[in-house]
Amino acid sequence: MNIAIIGSGYVGLVTGVCLAHIGHHVVCVDNDREKIKKLNAGKVPIYEPGLEEMILKYRRMKRLVFSGAIAVAVKKADVIFIAVGTPSKHNGDADLTYIENVAAEIARHMDGYKLLVEKSTVPAQTGNRIERTVRLNLSSKKGKPGHPAVEFDVASNPEFLREGSAIEDFMNPDRIVIGVESARAEKLLREVYKPLKARIVVTNLASAEMIKHAANSFLAAKISFINAVAQVCDRVGADVLKVAEGMGYDKRIGRAFLNAGIGYGGSCFPKDVDAFIRLADKSGYDFRLLKSVREVNEQQKASFIHLVEDKLWIIKGKTIAVWGLAFKANTDDMRRAASLDIIRVLQAEGARVQAYDPKAMLNARHELKNVKFCADAYAAVKAADCLLVLTEWDEFLKIDLVKVRGLMRQPVVFDGRNFFDKKVFTDHGFEYYGIGRGDVAQNTTGVMCAKK
Ligand code: NAD
Repeated sequence: MNIAIIGSGYVGLVTGVCLAHIGHHVVCVDNDREKIKKLNAGKVPIYEPGLEEMILKYRRMKRLVFSGAIAVAVKKADVIFIAVGTPSKHNGDADLTYIENVAAEIARHMDGYKLLVEKSTVPAQTGNRIERTVRLNLSSKKGKPGHPAVEFDVASNPEFLREGSAIEDFMNPDRIVIGVESARAEKLLREVYKPLKARIVVTNLASAEMIKHAANSFLAAKISFINAVAQVCDRVGADVLKVAEGMGYDKRIGRAFLNAGIGYGGSCFPKDVDAFIRLADKSGYDFRLLKSVREVNEQQKASFIHLVEDKLWIIKGKTIAVWGLAFKANTDDMRRAASLDIIRVLQAEGARVQAYDPKAMLNARHELKNVKFCADAYAAVKAADCLLVLTEWDEFLKIDLVKVRGLMRQPVVFDGRNFFDKKVFTDHGFEYYGIGRGDVAQNTTGVMCAKK
C-alpha cells in the first residue's frame, strides 16, 4: 500500500520504517526542513536502537522516502497517518494545533478517497474534530459548503511503542487498536497491519482514543502506586524490591511497571495524565485518583532531593556527579526527564553538577545551564561529593567501582532507579541510598533518620 506519515519524530519515523519493513511504500513527511535534509543525507536525528540501520536499508530499497512536501505525499497515499506532536498547554490540555494544521492541509490536497489515521495521542473526540476540519477545508476549496468533494474516513490507531525498544514493540505489539466509523476504514487498516499477525481490537473512534488515555494513565498509576509503597517501605525498614517481586508474581498484578524510583517522566506519561485529567474535568468528572497519581509523581522527585540534601548536609559548594540524564535508558529523549528538575533544584542550592549520559547529552545541553558534561562515567565522578544515578543505562553496570571510589571525594551514592545491587556498592566502601530499600527509617518523633 502507499502510505504517508505526517510528522517524522520518534513515532513517525518508527512507524514509517516498520511499515516499509512489512512491505508498504512509505513517505515520511515533516515541516522541519532541517530534519528532512538530515534524513535525506542518511543522518537519523534521534537515537533509537536499530532505527538507523533500518532507515538506511529501506531508503536504499526505495520503500521509504522523506519529504517536506505534504501535497505530493497526500496525493499518492491510500492511508495517511498523523504522527505530529500533541504537547501540553499550560493548563494541562493537549495542544492540538499541529493536528488541526495537518488535517486542514491534508484536506486541501485530497483528490480522491483517503483514510486519515490518528497515530498521535489525542483526547477523545479529536477524531470528530479532524473529520469536521477536513470537511470544512474540502468544502471551502470546492465552494460547496456541506458537500464534501471527495470521500474520506477518519480512524484512530493509537501507538503503544516505548522509546528504547520502539521497533521491537511496533513489530510485536500486544494488540493493535483500531477505532473506525466505517467498514471501509476497518478493511484498510486491517490490510495495513496484516503482515504483523497481531491481535486487533476494533472499536469506534472515541473508544480507541479512550483506550490510549486509560492505558497510559493506568501505567502511570502503577508507577505512582509502587513509589508510594516505597515511601512506606523506607519508614518501616522494608525493601520495595522484594515487595514488588512478591506482588508481581500475582498474575492479576504483574511485575511490570512496579519499579520504584524518581518518578515517571518523558514526553508521554506526564502530558497524557494531564490531558486525561482535563478531559475528565471538562466532561464533569473530577478524576481525583489520577490527580493523586500526578501528585505522588511530583513528591517522588522532591523526596529524592530531600534525601540528597539530608545526607550531603550542606549542598552549597558541593560537586554532584550524575550518571544518566535521559528520561529512561536507550533513548536520547530529554523531554520532561526527572533529571532536569532534580539538577535544577540542586544547582539553585549552590551545587556544581558534572554529568554523563551515553546518548542524551546533546539534547541535555539545550535544557541545562552550567552543567559540566563529561566524556564518560569516570570523568563525571572526579572529585565528586556524591553520585546520583538518574537513568538505568546498562553500561553503568560494567563500571569499575574501585576506580570510581578512588576518583570521588566522598563515596556516597543515591540510586534513583534502584538499578544497582546495594551490596556491591557497600562492599566497595560506599554509602548507598536507593528508593524504598529500607535505608531511611522513621524514628518515634516522626523525623526521618539514617538506618544503621
Ligand atoms: P516528536 O515531537 O518527536 O515528532 C513530531 C514531529 O511532527 C516533529 O518532527 C515535527 O516537526 C512534526 N510536525 C509538526 N507539525 C507538522 C506539520 N504541520 N507537518 C509536518 N510535520 C509536522 O513527537 P513524538 O514523540 O513522535 O510523538 C508524536 C505523537 O505520538 C504524540 O502525540 C505523542 O504523544 C504520541 N506518542 C509518542 C510516543 C513516544 O514514545 N514518543 C509513544 C506513543 C505515542
